Amino acid sequence: MEMIWSYLKKYKIAVAAALLLTLLELGVELVQPLLIARIIDDGILQEDLGTVLFWGGWLLVFSLAAFAAGIINSFYAAHASMSTGHDLRSAVFRKVQTLAAGSFQRFAVSSLLTRVTNDVIQIQNTIFMSLRIMLRAPLLVAGSVIMAFFVQWQLALILFTTVPLLSIVLIIIVRRAAGMFSRVQQAVDQVNHTAEENLTAVRLVKTFVRRKHESKKFHSAAGQLQDRTVRTMRMVEITMPLILLVMNGSIMAVLWFGTAGVTGGAMSVGEVVAVINYVTRMTGALSIFSMIIIIFSRAKASAARISSVLEEESTELPRGSGRQNDIPGEVVFRDVTFTYPEMPEPVLSRVSFSVSPGSRTAVLGAAGSGKTTLIQMIPKLLLPDEGEVVIDGVPASEWKTESLRAAIGYVPQEAVLFSGTIADNLRWGREDASEEEMVQALKDAQIYGAVQELPDGLYTRVGQRGINLSGGQKQRISIARALIRDPSILLLDDSTSALDTHTEKKLLDVIESRQCTVLMITQKLASAETADQIVLLEDGMVEAAGTDDELARSSRLYRAVKESQEGGGMYA
Ligand code: ADP
Repeated sequence: MEMIWSYLKKYKIAVAAALLLTLLELGVELVQPLLIARIIDDGILQEDLGTVLFWGGWLLVFSLAAFAAGIINSFYAAHASMSTGHDLRSAVFRKVQTLAAGSFQRFAVSSLLTRVTNDVIQIQNTIFMSLRIMLRAPLLVAGSVIMAFFVQWQLALILFTTVPLLSIVLIIIVRRAAGMFSRVQQAVDQVNHTAEENLTAVRLVKTFVRRKHESKKFHSAAGQLQDRTVRTMRMVEITMPLILLVMNGSIMAVLWFGTAGVTGGAMSVGEVVAVINYVTRMTGALSIFSMIIIIFSRAKASAARISSVLEEESTELPRGSGRQNDIPGEVVFRDVTFTYPEMPEPVLSRVSFSVSPGSRTAVLGAAGSGKTTLIQMIPKLLLPDEGEVVIDGVPASEWKTESLRAAIGYVPQEAVLFSGTIADNLRWGREDASEEEMVQALKDAQIYGAVQELPDGLYTRVGQRGINLSGGQKQRISIARALIRDPSILLLDDSTSALDTHTEKKLLDVIESRQCTVLMITQKLASAETADQIVLLEDGMVEAAGTDDELARSSRLYRAVKESQEGGGMYA
């Protein structure tokens, strides 16, 4: 919860204004019963209309003031809560973008989504309610007891015994509810996770006729959410009847002793009415309190979930000196060893090889041999545990991250296009790309012909609410997005898998003419054979490195691969 205060601090003026106005409302509420007592004792019982009108007038003025204070308070409370929500959401989003590789895996994507949306909303609501009524409710309870004491101390003794007891019970319930609400939020995560998986794999689910199975999974997650919510609600719902029971009991006691007091002449009717008025106000405040219990416990659970993201470790990238974009593009791996967090074995062990500027290196190896991991070390997506990756004579760790990345074009294994037009996607690679440059990049990536045939050409929408492109088309557009950066180093992670040999050759020829260093993971021997160098990985180690000829002579594994792929097969 401290985390929330630290974010709320920025809006302390709005918070202070809201709280001040709350106090004003509170003051009016506490004074009203006194005025009522006056009206009864000095006005009605004395049949003095002037006094009734006088105090009645004041009652009206106070009520109007409280009404105005309430409206302005809402304004400040909304400002502080919405702004804090916005800041928290942005902070979580920023954090997620810098999470270290290991940390990112700890949170499911759906769970991060729930935290950015649902959990932040819980906190936002709580801040609003706190500034609006949360402070007022306990103060109204405490203030009512004290004021009742001044009005008629004997009657107030009843409240002195019941209210603290009730408060203790309520606090115990809040504590238990917080734990239960955190389990409710976990169930929300689970529902989102199941829904997300199902939506992403909707075609798979249909063709495998797994709809029933998936529905069952969803129902079970939704059922769990329902079950946990109902159980939690049942517990917090006890609070309301409990409050009513205790407070109505108190009213009866006040009436009982009050009647005796008035008859005996020790108290006035006005005093008894005032005390009852305080008790009813307290009942209202306590009921609000019971409602607050719900959102407060929820917020506590949500705050813990948000904090756990914010407290995660970011990738602390060394600052580096910073260099310009025009790097020749030499890449050297020196004894690089890397282990994923919480994995027993290293995925890369003492990997060494060098790539000269402007050359093309094919990285070959069975699935799981560490190819993707290796490539991700170049733009510092992962940092070696031992050894170093040296780019143009400077260890990657010393490179200014942005400068290094600006010199790199990366095409991941899974072509991801963002919602928007094809042009938007290309400009995502380089914001100031002109239309001619975009056309050229698409031509180089061997996709311009297909783009031209789309309804709006370069400005056709893709992704959500746009047209669906084939896997191969997406792949080539993401290659164009990398090429448009005019990179010194181009990293292709099996990005030409959907291209036929002829198209792939044309693409590689174009890339060669661009004179950038290329590291390409490939499953196709045909594209490896023409590379300047082949790095053959086996179980995270370099089995052999050299040209096709050299490997054919020196590596048994390479020969075996060649034999198995005779006739244009794939590495398997
Ligand atoms: P390749 O690209 O050759 O298929 P990868 O580099 O993707 O190989 O993966 C190498 C090994 O590391 C595999 O066994 C894979 O399961 C494991 N691995 C990949 N990414 C992670 C990760 N983020 N956390 C833990 N293990 C991983």
